Amino acid sequence: MRCDKCDTEVADDEIFVHAGRNLCEDCYITVMARPKPCDPGAVSAARASRELQGQKGNQGLTPVQRKLYDYLKDKGKAKREDVAAYMDMPMEDLEGVFAVLRHMCLVRGFKENDTIFFTLM
Ligand SMILES: [Zn+2]
Repeated sequence: MRCDKCDTEVADDEIFVHAGRNLCEDCYITVMARPKPCDPGAVSAARASRELQGQKGNQGLTPVQRKLYDYLKDKGKAKREDVAAYMDMPMEDLEGVFAVLRHMCLVRGFKENDTIFFTLM
């Protein structure tokens, strides 16, 4: 299988699916741990809609988003796989929840010793 981003040939079991794209580990990490992870448009839109509802910071999250947020808040950082197990959802669904929180600048991903961790911003 080829990485959708850099076109490198990667073994099927080393492909990371992110936002519907097949990525090699390097590209996945780049996407997950970008130095500027916030999408200004998405953030201001999320912020604007939450401010309209009188919500700030981590308020106004859906129950699933809050569960993930509270887990990371409690743990400090957690392995991606542990988060998926705790959330009891497939990695692909977890990525979706994570992506939304990331757009809100609440969480981020990083890599340590070849392990991918999630943590709060
Ligand atoms: Zn790649």
